[in-house]
Amino acid sequence: MKIALSICFLIAIYSTVLGAELRVVSLHPLIGDLLRQVGGEKVEVIDLIGSNGDPHSFEPQAGDLADAEGAEIFFASGMGLENYLPKLEAILDGKSKIVEVGSTLPALEGSCDHAEEHDEHEHHHAHEVDPHWWHSVDLFRRAVTIVSKELAEARPENKSVYEENAAAYRKNLDALEKWVRRELIRIPRDQRKLATAHDAFQYFCVAYDFKSYSVQGLNREQMPDAVKLAELIATLKADRVVAIFPEKESNPKMLLSLTKDTGIRLGGELVADGRGMPSYEKMMKHNVETIVKGLSVK
Ligand SMILES: [Zn+2]
Repeated sequence: MKIALSICFLIAIYSTVLGAELRVVSLHPLIGDLLRQVGGEKVEVIDLIGSNGDPHSFEPQAGDLADAEGAEIFFASGMGLENYLPKLEAILDGKSKIVEVGSTLPALEGSCDHAEEHDEHEHHHAHEVDPHWWHSVDLFRRAVTIVSKELAEARPENKSVYEENAAAYRKNLDALEKWVRRELIRIPRDQRKLATAHDAFQYFCVAYDFKSYSVQGLNREQMPDAVKLAELIATLKADRVVAIFPEKESNPKMLLSLTKDTGIRLGGELVADGRGMPSYEKMMKHNVETIVKGLSVK
């Protein structure tokens, strides 16, 4: 009887320590999707920010942290976007690990112009680095491997599952990348100029050979002054930029008057930070379709 009991007890301990579900937290709308793709049924993702959250202004509150009870890893997109991480680290006090998924990916610098203009209370995250790495499908594919390794480290017994899921998802991303390149061919070479509200598409422009222009710099709360705006308009005209693309989050009024003054077309709304999108793939498809539609016709 005693032996049977202690075996039961051992099994109970074994299943809590080794078989226990891995709880992880997502601090970015697109990272939540990534974690579910790689973790599958072997991970419980607590989406603190939610699919509609704005990673530029989100900061977890006490209630969020209570929801995250028992989470072993907090995943952020990194590159300085989540500037509350040091504070979060202090609160977590070693009980959970924080992983900045983008921290080892090759970063692009933010536009210096706007960095100089940054006003202390106007922006949420200091930028020398442009944090929007997910607009390159290649970088997102590399992020899959980073996440898979982190999950496997936390649950070595599920390593093969994570790796299989990651491999399958990377295949989807291969197909997505091919589709992106095929679609973009429809835009004439001399019209591959992407003017957007906030400076979120530099990785896209580098990956797919576009020249980038932004009205507001890296932070969407920032407005250019009259001189800067006049300079920008002159550049857009001189470079024969066909369309300016707003974002769901940007100030469309300002862009509307900008397009009225210049005769440059107002393109459809782009999604910069994954908000309101059911998945990464859907966001990329939406953006590429919008860009092709805005730039492919004369
Ligand atoms: Zn952004």
